Amino acid sequence: MSTPKPIYGPADSMQTPRFSGIRTYARLPHVTDDLEHADAAIVGIPFDTGGTFRVGARFGPEAIRSASALMRPYHGASGVPVFELLSVIDYGDLPIIPGYFEESAERITAGLTTLHAAGVVPIALGGDHSIALPELRAAAAVHGPVGLIQLDSHSDTSDAYFGRPYTHGTPFFHATNEGLLDVQRVIQVGLRGPIYSGRDYEIPREFGFEVLTAGEVHELGMPEVAKRILERVAGGPVFFSFDIDFVDPAYAPATGTPEIGGFTTWEVQNLVRRLVGLPYVGFDVVEVIPEYDVAQNTALVAANVAYEFLTLLARSRQSAP
Ligand code: MN
Ligand code: MN
Repeated sequence: MSTPKPIYGPADSMQTPRFSGIRTYARLPHVTDDLEHADAAIVGIPFDTGGTFRVGARFGPEAIRSASALMRPYHGASGVPVFELLSVIDYGDLPIIPGYFEESAERITAGLTTLHAAGVVPIALGGDHSIALPELRAAAAVHGPVGLIQLDSHSDTSDAYFGRPYTHGTPFFHATNEGLLDVQRVIQVGLRGPIYSGRDYEIPREFGFEVLTAGEVHELGMPEVAKRILERVAGGPVFFSFDIDFVDPAYAPATGTPEIGGFTTWEVQNLVRRLVGLPYVGFDVVEVIPEYDVAQNTALVAANVAYEFLTLLARSRQSAP
């Protein structure tokens, strides 16, 4: 079959330089009123008062969009003309209320449900990781319980912090209890750092998740880790959540709760590029706090992670019968 030509794509950087114009992700058009002609949408979710340590991820979407001006239309490593295969829009930011998780979550869920229902795959730019709960509520409302690939230093499966249920340390506890996850198809990868107790790693395993610590990932190497992930999440819709603290703070210092002993930017690319062929229904990259950044490094990593996500979508479209 021949794929119809995408309606929406980036501005041509051979006509106007990429540092010019109003910043959207990768110079894509800002579109909110036409979901029919879009395959994927970049969505900013600038909610950051779920953070328990550093805050400021409310400026994450803006910083990631700014760094994304460097994204080019062709994924050189895999030979994929990303924007010839996919029609992509920048949907702007969802309207959150700083300090009010539950009200913000309702708005995030509503906004993303609209995209899912229209068959548009959201790629969310956080925001702190608390936004994963409303993201999963929206994904599950349309697709049913989803499998999850979570790349993160932390499990984020505590039941509460400070006696309060909704923080960036708790989204996957609540998502499990709300039945949003197909727990047999959940894998958390990259966990490391000082923890509160051994329970931190027991809880996700009791939920039925597979957990690979950072030490295990370093020992196994990315090709084997990718194999484990692909085996684990196969068989249904998949949500891919990328906490930027998966990356070593040497490469991504600007984040809420940095942990040493992480992964290089090449290891990130090497892993994510192998996770091809899955029926992805949503993505996010979260926990970028530009105030702590150095030379835009962290924002650039996040912009490239979102670009790898787009490439995964484009490659599944390319290989579609
Ligand atoms: Mn997290
Ligand atoms: Mn984390």
